[in-house]
Amino acid sequence: MKLLPIIHPELCTGCECCVLCCPTHALELVDGKATLARPELCDYEALCEDVCMAGAIELPYRIVLGTAGELRQGQPPLPMAETFSEESDGV
Ligand code: SF4
Ligand code: SF4
Repeated sequence: MKLLPIIHPELCTGCECCVLCCPTHALELVDGKATLARPELCDYEALCEDVCMAGAIELPYRIVLGTAGELRQGQPPLPMAETFSEESDGV
């Protein structure tokens, strides 16, 4: 499953910084709020999260456990692999 930025509309001030800096044009301002209008274009390099002074964008990361050799050979992740975000793990 492709990971995508999470935008919290209640925190978004509509400043448009993320929309203007997104190199792939995945974001758009809709009704004054940033929206991931074209998720298929997002390459997940996190520029939008960096520029958002309101803290309205977060990018969850998936941690995959395995040896370097297993990961190189495309072995499936171990069962302990999880997706972490501030919302899911409460950190
Ligand atoms: S940079 Fe943050 S506050 Fe500004 S439009 Fe984007 S999500 Fe909203
Ligand atoms: S992670 Fe990068 S490509 Fe994806 S929406 Fe944010 S700025 Fe755009």
